[in-house]
Amino acid sequence: MTTITLVQGDITRESADAIVNAANSSLLGGGGVDGAIHRRGGPAILEDCRRLRAGRYGKGLPTGQAVATTAGDLDARWVIHTVGPVWSATEDRSELLASCYRESLRVAGDLGARTIAFPAISTGVYGWPIDDGARIAVETVRAAGTSMEEVRFVLFDERAYEAFAAQIG
Ligand code: ADP
Repeated sequence: MTTITLVQGDITRESADAIVNAANSSLLGGGGVDGAIHRRGGPAILEDCRRLRAGRYGKGLPTGQAVATTAGDLDARWVIHTVGPVWSATEDRSELLASCYRESLRVAGDLGARTIAFPAISTGVYGWPIDDGARIAVETVRAAGTSMEEVRFVLFDERAYEAFAAQIG
């Protein structure tokens, strides 16, 4: 049984086997959660990301996929970087957003993680409406059949927390 928990706060302050980063495809850092993770996690994360860019992900990490690096100075074993879709009013990109959650869980499971913390992927700079982002996140995790003991959503502000709480019921 997987327990889904909600926390309001800064994901870089969390303790979990795996902490998920809402990265961009360059893997070389950005704003929002990405910036916060690299700031608090220190340079080891970026070093791993650069190695990935020099190897398997020369063209960047495609949207909807996930890859793990060290967690550096964070209180975690791994950071799992995933690239959410930019929200579009004309194109349904829900499947790509669901894929971020599924692929992150798969990568975490393959590593042997038992606890994982997610931010609300794509709901910041990438513009996804928070209520729909929360629905996709919770539905996807519930349907994923993951080996995690705990899946934690770490929501930065009260509005996001409320959106996830409404989905958990
Ligand atoms: P994206 O580009 O995928 O939209 P963002 O980092 O801009 O990624 O935002 C994703 C979500 O993460 C937003 O809901 C934003 O409020 C939230 N967020 C920003 N910083 C943090 C943080 N330190 N911890 C947890 N959530 C955060």
